[in-house]
This record gives sequence, structure tokens and C-alpha cells, in this order.
Amino acid sequence: MNTNGTSSKILIIEDEEKISRFVELELRHEGYETGKAADGRSGLEEALAGDYDLVILDIMLPELSGIEVLRRLRRESAVPVILLTARDSVTDKVTGLDMGANDYITKPFAIEELLARIRVILRNAESAQAAHGGAEPSSDAILSSPSGIEMNTDSHAVSYKGKAVELTNREFILLKILMENRGVAMTRERLLSEAWGYDYYGETNIIDVYVRYIRQKTADDVIRTIRGVGYMIE
Ligand code: CA
Repeated sequence: MNTNGTSSKILIIEDEEKISRFVELELRHEGYETGKAADGRSGLEEALAGDYDLVILDIMLPELSGIEVLRRLRRESAVPVILLTARDSVTDKVTGLDMGANDYITKPFAIEELLARIRVILRNAESAQAAHGGAEPSSDAILSSPSGIEMNTDSHAVSYKGKAVELTNREFILLKILMENRGVAMTRERLLSEAWGYDYYGETNIIDVYVRYIRQKTADDVIRTIRGVGYMIE
């Protein structure tokens, strides 16, 4: 149930009928309303037309790839998206997250894991909606480091040595966690679980990818590598 007292509506875009039917049954069992599409083109149309609260989007799809569906969807819609990706395709995951996917899950997945991620995303979407318009900027919103990073966690403005830095949402979240834990050597596992809000299993190399992006946009010494542990901002 959402705040309007109605059940959330979830679209499944997946060409493998076995998976999509299984996910549909599980979602209905949990009380969600569902829609289905079996190719990228009809999935995109349905996602734009259907007033969904969340979209589960497979990457390998006929007609239009999941990444292309996401790219076109994001021009018009902020509906939360969970990508279904193949194992070991870090590029797809990073591309997908940077293009505005809220999360991804690797096939084959346990249905309980998918359901848990859906609950997290729907809850975050609800609380974001509830908070919309009510927030006052506060001095707590400013994080800064001696190396020259300054970030405003309200406006999401980031600068390095006084120069504005454009970060993607995921880069921002990761940098924010490191800034909030200055002086603490953070393991990749902890960074993942704090950035994503639940435990990831063995996907820690994605943290290295984001750290590299942040360094490219600022400087190498902004984030220190702690050998055998992870990363730290001093
Ligand atoms: Ca597929």
C-alpha cells in the first residue's frame, strides 16, 4: 500500500516468459498490481502510458535494449527502475545506474532479494514525495574536506578547490558517504551497503569504478586508497 491507500503498480519488461510470469505471480502475491511487456518498444510505450510506481527492466530485450528503453524513458519520466542484468556485466550496471536506473539485480536472482529492493525503492520514493517542498537549507548540509572538496547535501552542489564539479547521482552518494566518515578507512562492502541501503554480494568492484570517476572529476588524492581495506577521505 502506498500513501494513497492503493497498491503500487509495477511494470515488468522482460522477454523471457518464464521469468516474467514468475515475477508477476510473486508481485501479485505481495499485493502489487502488475503490467507486462515482452520487448523494449512496447515496454517503453507501456512505461510512459501506464502510470506505474516502479519498472523492472531487463537489459537484453528484442526491439530496443533495456539501456535504450531507460535512456528514452528518462527523457520524460522519473519512475523508479530496477535493471535485470547478466552476471559480471559491470559496464551494463554502471551505464544503467548513470542513465538513471535506481538499482539493478543480477540474474539469476532470488525473488526475496528482488522483493526487498522493490520495498526499499518504493519506500524511498514515498518519503521523497512526503518531504518534497518542506525542506529548509541548514548548515548541516555543508560537508568539506581539507583537500578542497565542498558539498551541499541539500542542493547537491559539489565543488573542488572552488570549482563546480558535476557528479552523477551515484558518484554523489558515494562521495557523501566518504565525506561523512572522514578519517575512517571504509571497506568496499560497507560503502556498497551504505550507498545502496542493503547488502550486496561480491559486487564490490563497482565501488572502484565510481571512485575512479570521482577522482577523474576532482583529483587523485581526494580519495585515498587504503591497501587491503578500501577507501578514505582525510
Ligand atoms: Ca532478456
